[in-house]
Amino acid sequence: MKCLITGGAGFIGSHLSEELLNRGDVVYIIDDLSTGSIKNVEHLKNNPRFHSVVDTIFNQELLEDLIEKVDVIYHLAAAVGVKLIVESPVRTIETNIKGTEIVLNLANKHNKKVMIASTSEVYGKSTKVPFNEEDDMVIGQPKRGRWSYACSKAIDEFLAMAYYHEKGLPVTIFRFFNTVGPRQTGRYGMVIPSFIAQALSNKPITVYGSGEQSRSFTWIGDVVRGLIDITNHPKSNGELYNLGHGKEISILKLAELIKEMTKSKSKIVKIPYEKAYESGFEDMMQRVPDISKAHKLINYSPTLDIKDILQNIIEHFRSESYL
Ligand code: UDP
Repeated sequence: MKCLITGGAGFIGSHLSEELLNRGDVVYIIDDLSTGSIKNVEHLKNNPRFHSVVDTIFNQELLEDLIEKVDVIYHLAAAVGVKLIVESPVRTIETNIKGTEIVLNLANKHNKKVMIASTSEVYGKSTKVPFNEEDDMVIGQPKRGRWSYACSKAIDEFLAMAYYHEKGLPVTIFRFFNTVGPRQTGRYGMVIPSFIAQALSNKPITVYGSGEQSRSFTWIGDVVRGLIDITNHPKSNGELYNLGHGKEISILKLAELIKEMTKSKSKIVKIPYEKAYESGFEDMMQRVPDISKAHKLINYSPTLDIKDILQNIIEHFRSESYL
């Protein structure tokens, strides 16, 4: 199979490239390196089945050339990370909506299957546990910048579904739940790389809010395998899947666990949300996926729990000497 990954030099894109190459596929990536890094795919560049282009998906002529070459498109290029989103809401909305519009339009012109990367953020302020693909989205008001990410991704989902129903384009949508692993950077606010970097350098571990909010962290290897298996399954056309881990942990417990596992001397400090992000910031207090739909289709079942996940990432940080 020949695959195109938009955002292929990002955290998820680089792991997806690796897994597709391991399976014998041909991989083309396009990335503008805005949040991705060429370092993430450096180890793949000598593989004759790997091709990388540094450019933006807004370069439609180039994107169309790439789309013509492949069988399936994994559309991962997007503005992500709550910190980036709160700081640059215009960039978030424009990149996510216009980018997906271009990808779907060109994919439709050449009738190529598209995988759309979405997010558990779209469940928004809903307090339901766990979140099922058929649940309503409960998104906060536009004065709160955080929700621009959820809203932009929700529009991407609606547009993808519209292409499926109106034009018959094969599309599949994935909602990721806090995917974590090596190469994820803390630069855009992601909690695990931030906490590990703080713990390894004995700097304060910054828990935002009360720390009672919880997340269900999912190992990158489980996510990319699920992503490929579902994308390749003929019954996935026109469908939407949660990809996550069914177990949650509070952010305070996560900080304590990381401190213990790294044998760090760091203090755990609590920082009010308005200082960490913006005034009036609203967090999601609990975010647990119902993964039964993916399980039913491809037997999706996460292999690593939080301790093994952290062990792997800590080892990676140490080997890369990030300090
Ligand atoms: N968080 C934190 N300290 C940090 C970074 C994040 O306490 O240095 C919190 C954040 O407020 C949220 C959770 O950790 O409640 C997960 O944040 P992340 O940005 O990784 O992902 P989100 O689930 O918010 O998209």
